[in-house]
Amino acid sequence: MSTLLEYKCPSCGGAIKFDSELQKMQCPYCESEFEIEALKSYDDALNTVTEKSLEWSGYDENSGNGDWQEGEKEGIYTYSCVSCGGEIICEEHTAATKCPYCDNQVVIASQFSGMLKPDFVIPFKLDKENAKLKLKEFYKKKYLLPSSFKAENKIDSIMGLYVPFWLFSCDSVSHINYKAIRRRCYSDSNYNYVELNHFLATRGGEMKFGNIPVDGSLKIDDTAMESIEPFLYDQLLDFQTAYLAGYVADKYDVDANAAIPRANERIKNTVLDIMAPKEYDSYVTENESIQLTEDKVSYVLLPLWILNTKYKNTLYTFFMNGQTGKFSGKLPISIERAAMFFTAIFASIASVGAVVVYFIL
Ligand SMILES: [Zn+2]
Ligand SMILES: [Zn+2]
Repeated sequence: MSTLLEYKCPSCGGAIKFDSELQKMQCPYCESEFEIEALKSYDDALNTVTEKSLEWSGYDENSGNGDWQEGEKEGIYTYSCVSCGGEIICEEHTAATKCPYCDNQVVIASQFSGMLKPDFVIPFKLDKENAKLKLKEFYKKKYLLPSSFKAENKIDSIMGLYVPFWLFSCDSVSHINYKAIRRRCYSDSNYNYVELNHFLATRGGEMKFGNIPVDGSLKIDDTAMESIEPFLYDQLLDFQTAYLAGYVADKYDVDANAAIPRANERIKNTVLDIMAPKEYDSYVTENESIQLTEDKVSYVLLPLWILNTKYKNTLYTFFMNGQTGKFSGKLPISIERAAMFFTAIFASIASVGAVVVYFIL
């Protein structure tokens, strides 16, 4: 005779029943046994966590953190590219003639309007000459680069571009329940046993996050941007239009609200990983609540050098971090050189057989 109580098996998730003979709860699916009291406190602990979490309160999409000063906007112009639709802004004395995204001519469109005032900026530390030198260094030791590409070595355009980013900072208070397992193996003369003990590991704590960056521009490839990170955020300065002189700036097209999920993902992953009960043999997150306080979103401009070169009708774009000089880009590959290179590898390690094939594929 069994009495039905509504508990789910912590081991397999199946509905479990009270077994009057055992005087315990037993799962009909995986045969795990549990004390009623243990299950009850397990259930209670699970229910204390409300999953509503990671909500930001601090950003007003219309006014940002502060408005433009009188006259500040007047010196800024908007340029848009007739070829790719890219839009950049620059200060009135900067002549923007080429589009940083597609390298075509840009046309001046209008007096600048509608954009939140950036809160902070990291000004350019490295100039155009640094960027050219870095490109030369970048070509070195690239054995697959066609020699004609290297020989021409012309840069079609080089532009200092401020890329819009959102920076997310907050304090967090977290409560997390992990389902954890401790495994014990033993044997007697007849059998090998695996004993699984299930635990609910409840963790709580506070964590501070500062300046989690999320790209505010769709035009700049995220992977390219990540490849030249990090930026050193301790060098952020209050934004002033004067920093735009000689450079162009991208207008953000991913607004703060659209950027929130990416910031939250990084916060959640970090919290779950740091709090994880790693002393158990295995664990999974059952539920979590991460409340944010002191949350702040800032709109910032980060310095990027973009170098464009055309080779055999294809545009090659290189990026340099304008603060640290970190450089990245894709280069053309010479088919002949690649063939030679792989032949050489085959020749030198042919005896390894199958492993070589796997490696090359
Ligand atoms: Zn079960
Ligand atoms: Zn363009």
